[in-house]
Amino acid sequence: MKKIAIIGGGAAGFFSALCIKEISPDFEVHIFEKSKEGLSKVRVSGGGRCNVTHNCFDTEKLSTFYPRGGKELKAIFGVFQPKDMIEWLEKRGVKTKVEADGRIFPESNSSQTIIDCFENLAKRLNVIISYSTGLQDFERSNSKWSLSFTNIDKKLYFDAIIFASGSSVLMWELLAKKEIKIIKPVPSLFTFKISHGLLEGFSGISFKNVQVSTPIYSKSVQGDCLITHQGLSGPAVLKLSAWAAREMCEKQYQFILHINWLGGIKKADLLKEFMLNKDKIPTQKIKNYHLQGIPNRFWEKICLQIEIHQVNWAECGKKKLDELATLICECKMEVKGKNTFKDEFVTAGGVDLDTIDFTNMQSKTHQGVFFAGEVMNIDGVTGGFNFQAAWSSAYMAAQGVRTLSL
Ligand SMILES: Cc1cc2nc3c(=O)[nH]c(=O)nc-3n(C[C@H](O)[C@H](O)[C@H](O)COP(=O)(O)OP(=O)(O)OC[C@H]3O[C@@H](n4cnc5c(N)ncnc54)[C@H](O)[C@@H]3O)c2cc1C
Repeated sequence: MKKIAIIGGGAAGFFSALCIKEISPDFEVHIFEKSKEGLSKVRVSGGGRCNVTHNCFDTEKLSTFYPRGGKELKAIFGVFQPKDMIEWLEKRGVKTKVEADGRIFPESNSSQTIIDCFENLAKRLNVIISYSTGLQDFERSNSKWSLSFTNIDKKLYFDAIIFASGSSVLMWELLAKKEIKIIKPVPSLFTFKISHGLLEGFSGISFKNVQVSTPIYSKSVQGDCLITHQGLSGPAVLKLSAWAAREMCEKQYQFILHINWLGGIKKADLLKEFMLNKDKIPTQKIKNYHLQGIPNRFWEKICLQIEIHQVNWAECGKKKLDELATLICECKMEVKGKNTFKDEFVTAGGVDLDTIDFTNMQSKTHQGVFFAGEVMNIDGVTGGFNFQAAWSSAYMAAQGVRTLSL
Protein backbone atom coordinates (compact mmCIF):
# COMPACT_ATOMS: atom_id res chain seq x y z
CA MET A 1 0.00 0.00 0.00
CA LYS A 2 1.32 3.41 -0.91
CA LYS A 3 0.62 6.65 0.92
CA ILE A 4 -0.01 9.69 -1.22
CA ALA A 5 -0.29 13.29 0.03
CA ILE A 6 -2.19 15.73 -2.15
CA ILE A 7 -1.59 19.37 -1.31
CA GLY A 8 -4.71 21.39 -2.12
CA GLY A 9 -8.36 20.39 -2.18
CA GLY A 10 -9.27 22.28 -5.32
CA ALA A 11 -10.21 21.01 -8.77
CA ALA A 12 -6.90 19.26 -9.51
CA GLY A 13 -6.42 17.95 -5.95
CA PHE A 14 -9.86 16.34 -5.70
CA PHE A 15 -9.78 14.94 -9.20
CA SER A 16 -6.36 13.33 -8.77
CA ALA A 17 -7.46 11.78 -5.45
CA LEU A 18 -10.58 10.29 -7.07
CA CYS A 19 -8.63 8.96 -10.06
CA ILE A 20 -6.03 7.28 -7.82
CA LYS A 21 -8.62 5.63 -5.58
CA GLU A 22 -10.78 4.44 -8.47
CA ILE A 23 -7.85 2.54 -9.96
CA SER A 24 -5.95 1.66 -6.78
CA PRO A 25 -8.39 1.41 -3.87
CA ASP A 26 -5.64 0.05 -1.61
CA PHE A 27 -3.64 3.32 -1.77
CA GLU A 28 -3.96 5.61 1.25
CA VAL A 29 -4.79 8.98 -0.31
CA HIS A 30 -4.83 12.16 1.78
CA ILE A 31 -5.95 15.61 0.67
CA PHE A 32 -4.60 18.47 2.79
CA GLU A 33 -6.51 21.70 2.25
CA LYS A 34 -5.50 24.87 4.04
CA SER A 35 -9.00 26.42 3.95
CA LYS A 36 -12.08 25.35 5.89
CA GLU A 37 -13.60 23.85 2.75
CA GLY A 38 -12.42 22.58 -0.60
CA LEU A 39 -13.38 23.24 -4.20
CA SER A 40 -13.95 26.94 -3.52
CA LYS A 41 -13.01 28.03 -7.04
CA VAL A 42 -15.23 25.34 -8.54
CA ARG A 43 -18.08 26.79 -6.47
CA VAL A 44 -17.72 30.34 -7.85
CA SER A 45 -16.61 29.32 -11.32
CA GLY A 46 -18.55 30.32 -14.41
CA GLY A 47 -20.73 32.66 -12.32
CA GLY A 48 -21.74 29.73 -10.06
CA ARG A 49 -22.51 27.45 -13.01
CA CYS A 50 -19.00 25.94 -13.44
CA ASN A 51 -17.82 25.97 -17.04
CA VAL A 52 -16.36 22.53 -16.58
CA THR A 53 -14.71 22.05 -19.99
CA HIS A 54 -15.01 23.00 -23.68
CA ASN A 55 -16.59 21.29 -26.65
CA CYS A 56 -13.33 20.75 -28.49
CA PHE A 57 -12.18 17.16 -28.96
CA ASP A 58 -9.39 17.78 -31.46
CA THR A 59 -6.30 17.73 -29.23
CA GLU A 60 -4.20 19.75 -31.70
CA LYS A 61 -6.80 22.53 -31.80
CA LEU A 62 -7.47 22.26 -28.06
CA SER A 63 -3.83 22.94 -27.26
CA THR A 64 -3.97 26.29 -29.12
CA PHE A 65 -6.21 27.74 -26.40
CA TYR A 66 -3.32 27.77 -23.92
CA PRO A 67 -0.90 30.71 -24.04
CA ARG A 68 1.36 28.71 -21.72
CA GLY A 69 1.52 24.91 -21.65
CA GLY A 70 -0.18 24.16 -24.98
CA LYS A 71 2.66 21.98 -26.27
CA GLU A 72 2.86 19.92 -23.09
CA LEU A 73 -0.91 19.62 -22.76
CA LYS A 74 -1.27 18.36 -26.33
CA ALA A 75 0.47 15.16 -25.31
CA ILE A 76 -1.64 14.58 -22.21
CA PHE A 77 -4.87 15.48 -24.01
CA GLY A 78 -4.09 12.39 -26.08
CA VAL A 79 -4.77 10.42 -22.87
CA PHE A 80 -7.46 12.49 -21.14
CA GLN A 81 -9.34 15.27 -22.92
CA PRO A 82 -12.75 17.03 -22.73
CA LYS A 83 -14.58 14.00 -24.18
CA ASP A 84 -13.14 11.84 -21.38
CA MET A 85 -14.15 14.36 -18.73
CA ILE A 86 -17.70 14.54 -20.06
CA GLU A 87 -17.90 10.72 -20.03
CA TRP A 88 -16.34 10.57 -16.57
CA LEU A 89 -18.99 12.94 -15.23
CA GLU A 90 -21.87 11.22 -17.06
CA LYS A 91 -20.84 7.81 -15.67
CA ARG A 92 -21.04 9.30 -12.20
CA GLY A 93 -24.47 10.83 -12.74
CA VAL A 94 -23.57 14.37 -13.85
CA LYS A 95 -25.13 15.28 -17.19
CA THR A 96 -23.54 18.15 -19.09
CA LYS A 97 -24.72 20.52 -21.82
CA VAL A 98 -22.96 22.48 -24.52
CA GLU A 99 -23.68 26.17 -25.06
CA ALA A 100 -23.58 27.91 -28.44
CA ASP A 101 -20.02 29.17 -27.88
CA GLY A 102 -18.72 25.68 -27.02
CA ARG A 103 -18.60 26.09 -23.24
CA ILE A 104 -19.76 23.03 -21.33
CA PHE A 105 -21.69 23.27 -18.04
CA PRO A 106 -23.47 20.77 -15.80
CA GLU A 107 -27.04 20.41 -17.04
CA SER A 108 -28.20 21.59 -13.60
CA ASN A 109 -26.54 24.98 -14.26
CA SER A 110 -25.02 24.73 -10.79
CA SER A 111 -21.42 24.17 -9.71
CA GLN A 112 -22.83 22.45 -6.61
CA THR A 113 -23.58 19.40 -8.82
CA ILE A 114 -19.84 18.99 -9.49
CA ILE A 115 -18.97 19.60 -5.83
CA ASP A 116 -21.55 17.04 -4.65
CA CYS A 117 -20.25 14.50 -7.18
CA PHE A 118 -16.62 14.94 -6.09
CA GLU A 119 -17.30 15.06 -2.35
CA ASN A 120 -19.66 12.08 -2.31
CA LEU A 121 -17.29 10.00 -4.39
CA ALA A 122 -14.33 10.99 -2.17
CA LYS A 123 -16.28 9.79 0.86
CA ARG A 124 -17.26 6.53 -0.83
CA LEU A 125 -13.68 5.85 -1.94
CA ASN A 126 -12.24 6.65 1.51
CA VAL A 127 -10.14 9.63 0.49
CA ILE A 128 -8.92 11.13 3.77
CA ILE A 129 -9.47 14.90 3.75
CA SER A 130 -7.95 17.29 6.31
CA TYR A 131 -9.34 20.83 6.09
CA SER A 132 -7.74 23.90 7.71
CA THR A 133 -4.44 22.07 7.27
CA GLY A 134 -1.83 23.88 5.23
CA LEU A 135 1.48 22.38 4.18
CA GLN A 136 4.36 24.23 5.86
CA ASP A 137 7.40 22.27 4.80
CA PHE A 138 8.50 19.05 3.12
CA GLU A 139 11.79 17.21 2.88
CA ARG A 140 13.22 13.93 1.74
CA SER A 141 13.65 11.44 4.54
CA ASN A 142 15.17 8.12 3.44
CA SER A 143 12.91 6.93 0.63
CA LYS A 144 9.86 8.86 1.91
CA TRP A 145 8.72 12.47 1.97
CA SER A 146 8.32 14.01 5.40
CA LEU A 147 5.63 16.69 5.58
CA SER A 148 4.76 19.23 8.29
CA PHE A 149 1.42 21.02 8.47
CA THR A 150 -0.05 24.03 10.25
CA ASN A 151 -2.57 21.98 12.18
CA ILE A 152 -0.71 18.76 12.96
CA ASP A 153 2.01 18.52 15.64
CA LYS A 154 4.05 15.66 14.23
CA LYS A 155 5.58 15.10 10.82
CA LEU A 156 3.75 12.77 8.44
CA TYR A 157 5.48 10.44 5.96
CA PHE A 158 4.37 9.70 2.39
CA ASP A 159 5.64 7.85 -0.66
CA ALA A 160 4.65 10.66 -3.00
CA ILE A 161 3.30 14.20 -2.97
CA ILE A 162 1.02 15.71 -5.59
CA PHE A 163 1.19 19.49 -5.49
CA ALA A 164 -2.22 20.80 -6.53
CA SER A 165 -1.98 24.05 -4.60
CA GLY A 166 -3.17 26.32 -7.42
CA SER A 167 -1.85 29.87 -7.54
CA SER A 168 -0.64 30.03 -3.93
CA VAL A 169 2.34 32.39 -3.72
CA LEU A 170 3.44 30.82 -0.41
CA MET A 171 3.58 27.39 -2.01
CA TRP A 172 5.57 28.69 -4.98
CA GLU A 173 8.01 30.26 -2.51
CA LEU A 174 8.31 26.97 -0.62
CA LEU A 175 8.86 25.02 -3.86
CA ALA A 176 11.51 27.53 -4.97
CA LYS A 177 13.30 27.07 -1.63
CA LYS A 178 13.44 23.35 -2.43
CA GLU A 179 15.07 24.18 -5.77
CA ILE A 180 12.01 23.57 -7.89
CA LYS A 181 12.15 26.19 -10.64
CA ILE A 182 9.27 28.66 -10.60
CA ILE A 183 8.40 31.01 -13.46
CA LYS A 184 7.40 34.38 -11.97
CA PRO A 185 3.60 34.54 -11.61
CA VAL A 186 1.64 37.36 -13.27
CA PRO A 187 -2.14 37.79 -13.66
CA SER A 188 -3.89 36.52 -16.77
CA LEU A 189 -7.48 36.99 -18.00
CA PHE A 190 -8.24 40.58 -17.08
CA THR A 191 -10.14 43.45 -18.69
CA PHE A 192 -8.71 46.78 -19.84
CA LYS A 193 -9.21 50.15 -18.12
CA ILE A 194 -9.73 52.74 -20.83
CA SER A 195 -11.07 56.25 -20.62
CA HIS A 196 -11.94 57.35 -24.17
CA GLY A 197 -14.64 59.68 -25.44
CA LEU A 198 -15.79 57.15 -28.03
CA LEU A 199 -16.73 54.62 -25.34
CA GLU A 200 -18.63 57.05 -23.13
CA GLY A 201 -22.33 56.21 -22.81
CA PHE A 202 -21.95 52.80 -24.47
CA SER A 203 -21.48 50.58 -21.43
CA GLY A 204 -23.17 47.23 -22.15
CA ILE A 205 -22.88 47.47 -25.95
CA SER A 206 -21.15 44.50 -27.56
CA PHE A 207 -19.52 43.97 -30.95
CA LYS A 208 -19.18 40.72 -32.85
CA ASN A 209 -15.77 39.52 -33.96
CA VAL A 210 -13.55 42.48 -33.16
CA GLN A 211 -9.78 42.28 -33.75
CA VAL A 212 -7.52 43.58 -30.99
CA SER A 213 -3.74 43.86 -30.80
CA THR A 214 -1.02 45.91 -29.17
CA PRO A 215 2.44 46.94 -30.38
CA ILE A 216 3.94 45.29 -27.25
CA TYR A 217 2.84 41.81 -28.43
CA SER A 218 3.27 40.14 -31.82
CA LYS A 219 -0.12 38.44 -32.32
CA SER A 220 -3.58 39.90 -32.77
CA VAL A 221 -6.72 38.09 -31.58
CA GLN A 222 -10.34 38.13 -32.67
CA GLY A 223 -13.58 37.69 -30.77
CA ASP A 224 -16.56 39.50 -29.34
CA CYS A 225 -15.90 42.69 -27.41
CA LEU A 226 -17.94 44.42 -24.74
CA ILE A 227 -17.83 48.07 -23.70
CA THR A 228 -17.96 48.36 -19.90
CA HIS A 229 -18.26 51.41 -17.68
CA GLN A 230 -14.48 51.20 -17.13
CA GLY A 231 -13.23 50.29 -20.59
CA LEU A 232 -13.30 47.10 -22.64
CA SER A 233 -14.01 43.45 -21.83
CA GLY A 234 -15.35 40.37 -23.65
CA PRO A 235 -13.66 37.32 -25.21
CA ALA A 236 -11.30 39.26 -27.53
CA VAL A 237 -9.94 41.41 -24.70
CA LEU A 238 -9.61 38.46 -22.30
CA LYS A 239 -7.82 36.42 -24.96
CA LEU A 240 -5.32 39.22 -25.60
CA SER A 241 -4.79 39.68 -21.84
CA ALA A 242 -3.90 35.99 -21.57
CA TRP A 243 -1.53 35.86 -24.55
CA ALA A 244 0.24 39.11 -23.67
CA ALA A 245 0.00 38.66 -19.87
CA ARG A 246 3.75 38.97 -19.32
CA GLU A 247 4.34 41.89 -21.72
CA MET A 248 1.40 43.83 -20.24
CA CYS A 249 2.67 43.25 -16.70
CA GLU A 250 6.11 44.54 -17.73
CA LYS A 251 4.46 47.71 -19.04
CA GLN A 252 2.48 47.98 -15.78
CA TYR A 253 -0.71 47.72 -17.81
CA GLN A 254 -0.07 50.99 -19.67
CA PHE A 255 -0.05 50.36 -23.41
CA ILE A 256 -1.74 51.25 -26.68
CA LEU A 257 -4.57 48.99 -27.85
CA HIS A 258 -5.34 48.70 -31.56
CA ILE A 259 -8.95 47.86 -32.32
CA ASN A 260 -10.57 46.86 -35.59
CA TRP A 261 -14.27 47.00 -34.77
CA LEU A 262 -15.00 45.03 -37.95
CA GLY A 263 -12.59 42.16 -37.34
CA GLY A 264 -10.83 41.14 -40.51
CA ILE A 265 -11.97 44.00 -42.77
CA LYS A 266 -9.07 46.15 -43.96
CA LYS A 267 -9.13 49.94 -43.75
CA ALA A 268 -8.37 50.27 -47.49
CA ASP A 269 -11.44 48.16 -48.41
CA LEU A 270 -13.67 50.14 -46.07
CA LEU A 271 -12.41 53.41 -47.51
CA LYS A 272 -13.24 52.09 -50.99
CA GLU A 273 -16.83 51.38 -49.83
CA PHE A 274 -17.07 54.94 -48.44
CA MET A 275 -15.74 56.48 -51.68
CA LEU A 276 -18.30 54.50 -53.70
CA ASN A 277 -21.04 55.87 -51.44
CA LYS A 278 -20.22 59.34 -52.75
CA ASP A 279 -21.77 58.25 -56.09
CA LYS A 280 -24.26 55.65 -54.87
CA ILE A 281 -25.95 57.61 -52.09
CA PRO A 282 -24.61 61.18 -52.49
CA THR A 283 -27.39 62.96 -50.61
CA GLN A 284 -27.65 60.58 -47.65
CA LYS A 285 -26.28 61.92 -44.37
CA ILE A 286 -23.24 59.84 -43.39
CA LYS A 287 -24.54 59.47 -39.83
CA ASN A 288 -27.67 57.68 -41.18
CA TYR A 289 -25.63 55.02 -42.97
CA HIS A 290 -25.84 51.49 -41.57
CA LEU A 291 -22.45 49.84 -41.49
CA GLN A 292 -22.88 46.14 -40.79
CA GLY A 293 -21.26 45.17 -37.49
CA ILE A 294 -21.33 48.68 -36.03
CA PRO A 295 -24.28 49.63 -33.79
CA ASN A 296 -26.06 52.69 -35.23
CA ARG A 297 -25.60 54.79 -32.10
CA PHE A 298 -21.87 54.08 -32.03
CA TRP A 299 -21.57 54.99 -35.73
CA GLU A 300 -23.31 58.30 -35.02
CA LYS A 301 -20.88 58.94 -32.15
CA ILE A 302 -17.91 58.34 -34.46
CA CYS A 303 -19.40 60.77 -37.01
CA LEU A 304 -19.82 63.33 -34.24
CA GLN A 305 -16.26 62.76 -33.03
CA ILE A 306 -14.79 63.68 -36.41
CA GLU A 307 -17.41 66.34 -37.07
CA ILE A 308 -19.16 64.85 -40.09
CA HIS A 309 -22.55 64.23 -38.43
CA GLN A 310 -24.25 66.93 -40.50
CA VAL A 311 -22.45 66.05 -43.74
CA ASN A 312 -23.73 63.87 -46.61
CA TRP A 313 -21.56 61.45 -48.62
CA ALA A 314 -21.08 63.74 -51.65
CA GLU A 315 -19.91 66.65 -49.50
CA CYS A 316 -17.39 64.65 -47.50
CA GLY A 317 -13.75 64.86 -48.57
CA LYS A 318 -11.40 61.88 -48.78
CA LYS A 319 -9.40 63.04 -45.75
CA LYS A 320 -12.45 62.85 -43.50
CA LEU A 321 -13.51 59.50 -44.96
CA ASP A 322 -10.01 58.24 -44.29
CA GLU A 323 -10.36 59.40 -40.68
CA LEU A 324 -13.68 57.58 -40.48
CA ALA A 325 -12.21 54.32 -41.80
CA THR A 326 -9.27 54.69 -39.41
CA LEU A 327 -11.56 54.97 -36.38
CA ILE A 328 -13.36 51.80 -37.48
CA CYS A 329 -10.45 49.61 -38.60
CA GLU A 330 -7.37 51.08 -36.96
CA CYS A 331 -8.75 52.63 -33.81
CA LYS A 332 -6.15 53.30 -31.11
CA MET A 333 -6.90 53.64 -27.42
CA GLU A 334 -4.67 54.08 -24.41
CA VAL A 335 -5.04 51.36 -21.78
CA LYS A 336 -4.39 52.70 -18.30
CA GLY A 337 -4.65 49.67 -16.06
CA LYS A 338 -6.54 46.43 -15.65
CA ASN A 339 -9.66 45.19 -13.92
CA THR A 340 -10.36 41.71 -12.60
CA PHE A 341 -12.69 39.62 -14.73
CA LYS A 342 -14.99 38.25 -12.03
CA ASP A 343 -16.21 35.19 -13.92
CA GLU A 344 -12.76 33.66 -14.27
CA PHE A 345 -9.22 34.75 -13.56
CA VAL A 346 -6.05 32.74 -13.47
CA THR A 347 -2.34 33.21 -12.99
CA ALA A 348 0.32 32.81 -15.65
CA GLY A 349 3.50 31.38 -14.16
CA GLY A 350 4.29 28.60 -11.72
CA VAL A 351 6.41 25.46 -11.80
CA ASP A 352 8.62 25.53 -14.90
CA LEU A 353 7.26 22.99 -17.39
CA ASP A 354 10.77 21.98 -18.50
CA THR A 355 11.29 20.46 -15.03
CA ILE A 356 8.24 18.15 -15.29
CA ASP A 357 7.96 14.78 -17.06
CA PHE A 358 4.57 15.06 -18.78
CA THR A 359 4.20 11.31 -19.19
CA ASN A 360 3.48 11.07 -15.47
CA MET A 361 3.59 14.68 -14.10
CA GLN A 362 6.59 13.84 -11.93
CA SER A 363 9.31 16.39 -11.22
CA LYS A 364 12.45 15.61 -13.20
CA THR A 365 14.56 16.77 -10.28
CA HIS A 366 12.59 15.56 -7.23
CA GLN A 367 11.56 11.92 -7.33
CA GLY A 368 8.13 11.30 -5.85
CA VAL A 369 6.99 14.91 -6.33
CA PHE A 370 4.14 15.37 -8.81
CA PHE A 371 2.19 18.40 -10.06
CA ALA A 372 -1.38 19.00 -11.23
CA GLY A 373 -3.37 22.11 -12.15
CA GLU A 374 -2.58 25.78 -11.88
CA VAL A 375 0.51 25.29 -9.69
CA MET A 376 2.29 24.73 -13.02
CA ASN A 377 3.11 27.37 -15.63
CA ILE A 378 -0.04 26.48 -17.57
CA ASP A 379 -3.02 28.68 -18.27
CA GLY A 380 -5.73 28.86 -20.88
CA VAL A 381 -8.11 31.45 -22.25
CA THR A 382 -11.70 31.56 -20.95
CA GLY A 383 -14.19 28.88 -21.92
CA GLY A 384 -13.52 25.87 -19.65
CA PHE A 385 -9.92 25.37 -20.76
CA ASN A 386 -8.42 26.07 -17.34
CA PHE A 387 -10.48 23.37 -15.66
CA GLN A 388 -9.68 20.96 -18.47
CA ALA A 389 -5.95 21.50 -17.84
CA ALA A 390 -6.61 20.70 -14.15
CA TRP A 391 -8.59 17.51 -14.98
CA SER A 392 -6.09 16.24 -17.55
CA SER A 393 -2.97 16.91 -15.47
CA ALA A 394 -4.63 15.46 -12.35
CA TYR A 395 -5.57 12.32 -14.30
CA MET A 396 -1.97 11.95 -15.51
CA ALA A 397 -0.55 12.55 -12.01
CA ALA A 398 -2.88 9.83 -10.69
CA GLN A 399 -1.55 7.41 -13.32
CA GLY A 400 1.96 8.59 -12.46
CA VAL A 401 1.84 7.85 -8.73
CA ARG A 402 0.08 4.55 -9.39
CA THR A 403 2.51 3.11 -11.89
CA LEU A 404 5.79 4.47 -10.58
CA SER A 405 7.97 2.37 -8.34
CA LEU A 406 8.49 4.87 -5.57
C1 LIG B 1 -13.79 33.42 -10.04
C2 LIG B 1 -13.19 32.33 -10.91
C3 LIG B 1 -13.99 31.67 -11.81
C4 LIG B 1 -13.44 30.67 -12.64
N1 LIG B 1 -14.24 30.04 -13.53
C5 LIG B 1 -13.73 29.10 -14.34
C6 LIG B 1 -14.55 28.38 -15.25
O1 LIG B 1 -15.77 28.56 -15.29
N2 LIG B 1 -13.94 27.48 -16.08
C7 LIG B 1 -12.60 27.21 -16.03
O2 LIG B 1 -12.11 26.39 -16.79
N3 LIG B 1 -11.80 27.84 -15.14
C8 LIG B 1 -12.34 28.75 -14.28
N4 LIG B 1 -11.54 29.37 -13.39
C9 LIG B 1 -10.14 28.94 -13.26
C10 LIG B 1 -10.13 27.65 -12.42
O3 LIG B 1 -10.88 27.87 -11.25
C11 LIG B 1 -8.71 27.26 -12.05
O4 LIG B 1 -7.97 27.10 -13.23
C12 LIG B 1 -8.74 25.91 -11.30
O5 LIG B 1 -9.48 26.06 -10.11
C13 LIG B 1 -7.34 25.44 -10.96
O6 LIG B 1 -7.46 24.28 -10.17
P1 LIG B 1 -6.35 23.92 -9.10
O7 LIG B 1 -6.85 22.74 -8.37
O8 LIG B 1 -5.05 23.87 -9.75
O9 LIG B 1 -6.30 25.18 -8.13
P2 LIG B 1 -7.42 25.64 -7.06
O10 LIG B 1 -8.77 25.26 -7.52
O11 LIG B 1 -7.13 27.08 -6.81
O12 LIG B 1 -7.08 24.79 -5.78
C14 LIG B 1 -5.89 24.94 -5.04
C15 LIG B 1 -6.19 24.63 -3.60
O13 LIG B 1 -4.96 24.52 -2.88
C16 LIG B 1 -5.16 25.06 -1.61
N5 LIG B 1 -3.84 25.37 -1.02
C17 LIG B 1 -3.00 26.37 -1.35
N6 LIG B 1 -1.91 26.36 -0.57
C18 LIG B 1 -2.04 25.30 0.26
C19 LIG B 1 -1.24 24.74 1.30
N7 LIG B 1 -0.09 25.29 1.66
N8 LIG B 1 -1.66 23.63 1.92
C20 LIG B 1 -2.86 23.05 1.59
N9 LIG B 1 -3.66 23.56 0.65
C21 LIG B 1 -3.26 24.66 -0.02
C22 LIG B 1 -6.04 26.25 -1.86
O14 LIG B 1 -6.70 26.68 -0.69
C23 LIG B 1 -7.00 25.71 -2.91
O15 LIG B 1 -8.15 25.14 -2.35
C24 LIG B 1 -12.06 30.35 -12.53
C25 LIG B 1 -11.27 31.02 -11.61
C26 LIG B 1 -11.82 31.99 -10.79
C27 LIG B 1 -10.93 32.69 -9.79
